[in-house]
Amino acid sequence: MPIRLYDSLARDVVDFVPLTPGQVSMYVCGPTVQSEPHIGHLRSALVYDLWWRWMEYRGLDVTMVRNVTDIDDKILEKARDTNEQWWQLASRVEREFHKASDAIGIRRPASEPRATGDIPAMLSLIERLIDRGHAYVADDGSGDVYFDVASWSRYGELTRQKPEDMEPGEASTGAKRSVHDFALWKGHKEHEPETAAWPAPWGRGRPGWHLECSAMAARYLGPTFDIHGGGLDLRFPHHENELAQSAAAGDDFARHWVHSALVLVNGQKMSKSLGNSIFAGDWLEKARPIVIRYALSAAHYRSDIDLHDGALEEAEKAFSRIEGFVERTRDLPEAHEPLPEAFSDAMDDDLGIPEALGVLHETVRRGNHAVDDGDTSLAAQCRSEVVAMLDVLGLNPHSAQWAAQSGSADSGSEHLDTLVQALLDARKSARESKDFGLADQIRDVLQAGGIDVTDTADGPQWSIRGS
Ligand SMILES: [Zn+2]
Repeated sequence: MPIRLYDSLARDVVDFVPLTPGQVSMYVCGPTVQSEPHIGHLRSALVYDLWWRWMEYRGLDVTMVRNVTDIDDKILEKARDTNEQWWQLASRVEREFHKASDAIGIRRPASEPRATGDIPAMLSLIERLIDRGHAYVADDGSGDVYFDVASWSRYGELTRQKPEDMEPGEASTGAKRSVHDFALWKGHKEHEPETAAWPAPWGRGRPGWHLECSAMAARYLGPTFDIHGGGLDLRFPHHENELAQSAAAGDDFARHWVHSALVLVNGQKMSKSLGNSIFAGDWLEKARPIVIRYALSAAHYRSDIDLHDGALEEAEKAFSRIEGFVERTRDLPEAHEPLPEAFSDAMDDDLGIPEALGVLHETVRRGNHAVDDGDTSLAAQCRSEVVAMLDVLGLNPHSAQWAAQSGSADSGSEHLDTLVQALLDARKSARESKDFGLADQIRDVLQAGGIDVTDTADGPQWSIRGS
């Protein structure tokens, strides 16, 4: 059975057939790095991490590109408030985003191009649009360039709207021919920093947000690629505009559009004005990163997650049941079971993680009964299936990722893991050559450093004492 996905453009679940057999090219809209990442940013990034992992499990080689919007009206505005250079703010927030997404095991994409790093690609896309009669330079001397919506009859195809029924995406400046036209290039303004402008044939300035993604997707993945992803809130106007620009410039662009739903807090959208945003940092202080990953994976990616009070505690409880089973069966012989078919079927069917987790929890239940009944072979089989399912979801508590983090998500964890692994390897060699004195000495060194080592059937596991 092929992987099936809900394509927002087709408005249907379709069979996913990659453009190049065995390969997947995926572009995902990344963060605009203006203020610290919230749970919605993490959820969106996690959804595509899960798609990537599942496709990889199905033997596909995924090339993921996720941009960083590091120049934007909001970034310039915010930098004035925080008294930083805009590029300083953008870099700082980008690091915060990485720290939080690394903590919950979201893999880094093949490339994370920054908008400011690909200005030439954006300039040449604008030139193509002007040449083809789909963009114009404003005649007020501002240096702005706009997409001419009236020149593109397909405009509105992604969200199935006609321009006359649409909300204008941005305030009209008076230089636009129509309220629906949107900026491809924003001419430099007096009050803006000199560093926020790049030379262009129609006057120095900076790229419009929508244009960045069109230019970068094509630059890294080609004029046609498999999947364009992003949060549902980006569908209009951002993705509608991306599609219009790229198609009007002659690119086939994305073959499928995938959108992830939002994160609500007690039924309401997170917003600055409501002051109800949950920041990644808040959660990372309250819960273990692996539990946060579980909490944000559990809903279907096309369903909003409504974070009510106690949601994190519920996730902790549910995940602890899984962990408890893995823990109590850790000494059973390895069974090497494949993924249960019901789990794979659910994942193939538009990444049906709720059903897949249903299979996981059911296997945990069966496994626990088997342990209680003394049925070691069934318990070992269930354990093996559970671990296989957790591996695919990036939730195996014994994988190197989480062992290295155990309780601390700081940037030193990777280095610490390398050091501890080197010592454990040395201890293993010492034991193999029956030098038990040396083996014990190494263990003492680790213990003096606050590292507890437990020997298990899967080899030694380590943790930081007290975490
Ligand atoms: Zn985008």
